[in-house]
Amino acid sequence: MSELDALYQEVILDHAKRPRNCHTMEGADRRAEGYNPLCGDRFTLYLKLENDRIADISFQGTGCAISTASASILTEMLKGKTLAEADKLFDNFHKLVTGKSADGTEALGKLAVFCGVSEFPVRVKCAILAWHTMRNALADDRGVASTE
Ligand code: ZN
Repeated sequence: MSELDALYQEVILDHAKRPRNCHTMEGADRRAEGYNPLCGDRFTLYLKLENDRIADISFQGTGCAISTASASILTEMLKGKTLAEADKLFDNFHKLVTGKSADGTEALGKLAVFCGVSEFPVRVKCAILAWHTMRNALADDRGVASTE
């Protein structure tokens, strides 16, 4: 394992063990559930919006290390972002974990730790779950986001 891989793994494990913004939210403007049947990951995402900006974001649920870390990092990265910025990050992250883009990692910040996931198709669904759920929440779709 390279030094960079080891560092990335450390960041993922840290977020999996001590997820940030992991709590339910009173008075959330948006809420969506995500479920990945392949792995059993299940999260609820909560959002507070101020005009076109994500004022607050949190999640609650259970999942594997990858999905939990992804949800944790997502909440860290999206707090304070505009909806357009959130959409752009979703696109970049989707490309990253599906191995479609080798560049663009500079725009990803901490999300770059998930670059190794593209080599494990089953894990891609774990990594992307919180992001699909976020998109559903922003679309005000109250159904359950599924990776299937
Ligand atoms: Zn999983």
